[in-house]
Amino acid sequence: MKAHDGMYIDGEWRPAATADTIAVVNPADEQVIAHVPAGTAEDVDAAVRAARTAFPGWAATPPAERAAHLAALRDVLTARADEIAETVTAELGSPLSFSQKVQVGLPIAVAGSYAELAATYAFEEKVGNSTVYQEPVGVVGAITPWNYPLHQIVAKVAPALAAGCTVVLKPAEDTPLTAQSFAEAVDEAGIPAGVFNLVTGLGPVAGQALASHEGVDLVSFTGSTAVGRQIGATAGAAVKRVALELGGKSANVILPSADLAKAVNVGVANVMSNSGQTCSAWTRMLVHASQYEEAVELAADAAAKYGERIGPVVNAKQQQRVRSYIETGVAEGARLVTGGPEVPREQGYFVSPTVLADVTPEMTVAQEEIFGPVLAILRYEDEEDALRIANGTVYGLAGAVWAGEESEAVAFARRLDTGQVNINGGRFNPLAPFGGYKQSGVGRELGSHGLSEYLQTKSLQF
Ligand code: NAP
Ligand code: MG
Repeated sequence: MKAHDGMYIDGEWRPAATADTIAVVNPADEQVIAHVPAGTAEDVDAAVRAARTAFPGWAATPPAERAAHLAALRDVLTARADEIAETVTAELGSPLSFSQKVQVGLPIAVAGSYAELAATYAFEEKVGNSTVYQEPVGVVGAITPWNYPLHQIVAKVAPALAAGCTVVLKPAEDTPLTAQSFAEAVDEAGIPAGVFNLVTGLGPVAGQALASHEGVDLVSFTGSTAVGRQIGATAGAAVKRVALELGGKSANVILPSADLAKAVNVGVANVMSNSGQTCSAWTRMLVHASQYEEAVELAADAAAKYGERIGPVVNAKQQQRVRSYIETGVAEGARLVTGGPEVPREQGYFVSPTVLADVTPEMTVAQEEIFGPVLAILRYEDEEDALRIANGTVYGLAGAVWAGEESEAVAFARRLDTGQVNINGGRFNPLAPFGGYKQSGVGRELGSHGLSEYLQTKSLQF
């Protein structure tokens, strides 16, 4: 695959500070497909300076003009959708149809939503004898993971630009080519130099330098809770704004009145999609004791159907990590009903779609984020028991509730300690706030709530 050997800074591709590179590997066949520069603190510093210089001009650009730039960006992404989907598939491994529909389709919709919001949002309001202005926070340091490489970038960059902020992005080391494609799109869309800057590199080097740079006003991070905690602490010490989208261990609660087969099938599809590498996946299925064995059988059948069409996980380390979680589950007493820790193919970082039954709430596989195609099915005795189990983790990112009547599902959902709940299979909404309760994070992405993360208020009294 073609790759840039420099950083996108101040509107141009510039040589990196050092000659170090990162190899990009196709997880489906383990072949090296490209190399990108491994950025250092020096590259980050150059990018932050470019973003600082560009900030006053971009912040003063009328929202309608910023909206037009975002619409142009959406159009370039749309024109290049096939090429970007191929890049996502090459470096992440997700099947091409999924890359087209979700990996690229969703961020195009999100970019479009911010083009519209920038044009219509009330950046100014009257409150009694005051006028309250919503002003951009400043320079944003964005650090993104590999699981939805384009979406994670757009979910930060589009609202930041809509707000009038400028950005330095450090994408995941596993998926830098999608980030380079995004930078090309920004350039082609004619967004002014320095408004968006890209530094590829390793987390503990380039990521750390960006998160702790004094020229950055807000750090927006998506990834593991371990790194998020560290970034939050660094930002706290500098009294700097921070947004954290972290892990999840969401519950799919099937109440006895629900359509069991539908709830199980949609639940399995939710977990297996993107090879289980979705932070909001419903990785714990909660089923009433009276329907438990029937649900396990349905889930095993549904999961087995993914055997041929599931993509690999992102890298060898994640493959090993997911396999060892399956082993831990069995060792702690879970019943393996389909899949397992064995490597299913000779080449590529594949993991078999796996279902574990008889999982109890204190087991490791019921508490920790696995980030692979592994579903844990838990049994509950009554509604209070289901609620206790659903809320019994450190996470609170998403979830689902199924019931015969919508009102019954809503009543249950209102008692869940979590940021998003799908009712009877409700569709993902790219305008709805996305983010976590508890250790799943701080702040919200998407829609107007996502935009307000990048704004600060000033009030003038008259
Ligand atoms: P991660 O290490 O948290 O990576 C997320 C981003 O942070 C990447 O760009 C990473 O760079 C960067 N980073 C790493 N260490 C950093 C540091 N000290 N300072 C600043 N930035 C740093 O996550 P991961 O290693 O890719 O995945 C590990 C686990 O995290 C997964 O198994 C999963 O449980 C969870 N995860 C969650 C999400 C989510 O959407 N919430 C997404 C991905 C992973 P590098 O790419 O160079 O590491
Ligand atoms: Mg990492």
